[in-house]
Amino acid sequence: MALHFHNTLSRRDEEFVPLRGQEVRLYTCGPTVYDYAHIGNFRTYVWEDLLRRYLRHRGFQVVQVMNLTDVDDKTIANARESGQTLADYTRTYIDAFFEDVAALGMERAEHYPRATAYIPQMARLIRRLRDTGHVYESRGSLYFRISTFPAYGRLSLVNPEAAAGQARIDSDEYEKDNPRDFAVWKATRDDEPSWDTEIGRGRPGWHIECSAMSMELLGETFDIHTGGVDNIFPHHENEIAQSEAATGKPFVRYWMHAAHLIVDGEKMSKSKGNFFTLRDLAARGHDMRVIRYMLSSVHYRKPLNFTFEGLNQAAAALGRLDDLALRLEAVEPGLTRDGGDLVARTREALRGMTDALDADLNTAGALGHLFDFVRETHSAVDAGAFGRKDLEAAREVMSAFETIFGIRPGQRAALDAEIEALIASRARARTQRDFADADRIRDELLRRGIVLEDTPQGVRWKRK
Ligand code: AMP
Ligand code: ZN
Repeated sequence: MALHFHNTLSRRDEEFVPLRGQEVRLYTCGPTVYDYAHIGNFRTYVWEDLLRRYLRHRGFQVVQVMNLTDVDDKTIANARESGQTLADYTRTYIDAFFEDVAALGMERAEHYPRATAYIPQMARLIRRLRDTGHVYESRGSLYFRISTFPAYGRLSLVNPEAAAGQARIDSDEYEKDNPRDFAVWKATRDDEPSWDTEIGRGRPGWHIECSAMSMELLGETFDIHTGGVDNIFPHHENEIAQSEAATGKPFVRYWMHAAHLIVDGEKMSKSKGNFFTLRDLAARGHDMRVIRYMLSSVHYRKPLNFTFEGLNQAAAALGRLDDLALRLEAVEPGLTRDGGDLVARTREALRGMTDALDADLNTAGALGHLFDFVRETHSAVDAGAFGRKDLEAAREVMSAFETIFGIRPGQRAALDAEIEALIASRARARTQRDFADADRIRDELLRRGIVLEDTPQGVRWKRK
């Protein structure tokens, strides 16, 4: 079966064929580093990691760029509030982001450009747009005139006619469905970070950052551009307008967007305050592998409803897979007979998994096939009908799951780091005299079979 993706631009499933041979050029909108990323953000990032892993599994080479937005309205406002320079302020959250990336077992992208390192490229792009009449000046800022780009609205289906007579917009984020001329370059006040460039002194708007960095690193036309659905308008619509108006070439061939992670029917977001970071969940004793599994278990174009009950179900499912992996390590296939047509059924499960993923990364379908295999293999081992060939086929499935989903089955023992983190948050609770919380954490540890001992050198722990 050929690989198909749903293209937001055409609103259809299309066969995926890269521009240049087997090489895939992929741009994934990255974090705005003004705070810790929450698990809603990680729904999108983990899906992008799975996309990258699956492309590699299918034999493509991937060049992935994930930008770090380290200058925009939000980073500037927060840095000022904290009394730090923009660079010092964003450094904390860039470091935290990479810790989270590692904790979730995400592969590293080839490039993580910081916006502040690409200001000359942004200025050059804006000058091209100004020279060709797409950009005009008003009170020191530069705006993209969307009436000069007839294809405006093709991605998001907003109606640019509605823009006639609308005020210009300076803010990096504006209300949904309301297209307006938007700032590509902003005049700055004395107390704001600014750069001297060929178009004068100022700072970039958010949208121009992604146009400039993506084209600089991947070329003027590249294969895939992704983000969450909230990026479609205005961010990606504006990226298309700026890039294509400047180059006259198609900007991106496949646009892909992940539906939101939601809580109680609402998008998880910083501004609503309804969010959990990975750190929040780790402090409550949740395993990063389970979080990763939960985030990947729903098809990326369906909203993912986050609940703690759902997290427990994910833990149970992954537990069944872990049990099987540990059993397979212990089984002695030479001593049992082959399981009849088990090899054939295992191969079928593997084909089912790849067929589902070929159909626009249907992870839920793929996991359905995986768990058919888990169930049948457990029963074959129970019945002593599990031979060497069965074991080889089973290992192939386990290893395909590991490379594609980024989770190693059977790794439950490696949780020491998490235990240490729980102990540290209990110590923190105690210094803050929050003894109820400290006790809750001790009970949680006890449930996991961890006993704490207070010694003059600090807290020691051992497994029961
Ligand atoms: P931001 O840091 O707000 O620019 O968001 C970074 C990425 O996370 C973008 O691709 C967003 O579309 C995505 N995102 C933000 N909130 C959610 C959510 N609740 N569910 C899924 N993706 C999200
Ligand atoms: Zn972007």
